[in-house]
Amino acid sequence: MTAVAKPGDLREAARLIRGGELVAFPTETVYGLGADASNPDAVRDIFRAKGRPSDNPLIAHIADVSMWPALARDIDDRALSLADRFWPGPLTIVLPRTDAVPDIVTAGLDTVGVRVPAHPVALALIRESGRALAAPSANRSGKPSPTTAKAVLDDMDGVIPMILDGGPCRVGMESTVLDMSQSTPIVLRPGGVTVEALRAILPDVIVDPSALAPLADGQRAASPGMRHRHYSPSIPLSVVTGLDRVNALRSLYDDALAKGLSPILLLCDESAAKVPPRRCIALGSYNDLERVSSRLFGALRDLDRSGASIAYAESFPAEGAGLALMNRLLRAAGFSVINTD
Ligand code: AMP
Ligand code: MG
Repeated sequence: MTAVAKPGDLREAARLIRGGELVAFPTETVYGLGADASNPDAVRDIFRAKGRPSDNPLIAHIADVSMWPALARDIDDRALSLADRFWPGPLTIVLPRTDAVPDIVTAGLDTVGVRVPAHPVALALIRESGRALAAPSANRSGKPSPTTAKAVLDDMDGVIPMILDGGPCRVGMESTVLDMSQSTPIVLRPGGVTVEALRAILPDVIVDPSALAPLADGQRAASPGMRHRHYSPSIPLSVVTGLDRVNALRSLYDDALAKGLSPILLLCDESAAKVPPRRCIALGSYNDLERVSSRLFGALRDLDRSGASIAYAESFPAEGAGLALMNRLLRAAGFSVINTD
């Protein structure tokens, strides 16, 4: 049995962490599946519980910058200025690792991704346990990341001893992963901090092409996590692009219905108002892509429960908060795109 505990049970959660057990905890991005980052056996259990490929490194979560030098080397002024601006917050900074970081945390890489989460429960768990927490998203590998304790329970019931319930995640989208270990800072995974915001501090930040494109056969993934199937609902999903997409979504829906399928649409509020009586999930206003992002993973899980047999999603502009949104949506759709232009 997995206990769903209130934040008041922090001492018990911290005891479990120190004893080498796993605890799921809330962050502002998504729920994390945490283990003592200095304990290789505990970290191995994360991979087992998630069914996560062993070549996909974990992010180390710390309570403040004073815990950073124990994990990462070459923390220069540029890295410090990012930490100063964005921590606590959804930015993971990748730098060369120290010998203190077990191989299994970084999947054998010589770099380590570190961040300070902006959630009081996450920070309290790190402080109370006195450990950096290695924590990926607390979903089964391949499934959408969990943004509520209930979503964690759906995937992890009976697999881990405790979930700390801190309510729904505010950002609802994972952190931006920024590699600072090379001369040019490069976004390996877009996320809760936009590229535009990073460039206000470091103008030379670039974005790895894998942000919006599938990897070609044999191509090396800059961020190993990008190689794997991700965020997938259990029914087929396609993303519909182009100016005339709402008309196209209506036709796709009607054609699917005529074929005896049970379709459903994923849309912004403005488009959702144009499709009745068709079934749809509205994600929020087109003018508030942060809000749309925060609802995406919940909506992908709702697809699984909807009883629908095929889904079509509207595409969004891939800039600002839209870049992370489209990165996740395209991966959820396995890069199945229908262009109406
Ligand atoms: P998750 O914890 O599920 O949000 O996934 C963590 C993401 O961060 C994955 O896509 C990893 O590939 C990426 N990541 C973590 N550490 C590193 C690192 N040292 N180098 C490159 N990517 C990393
Ligand atoms: Mg994940």
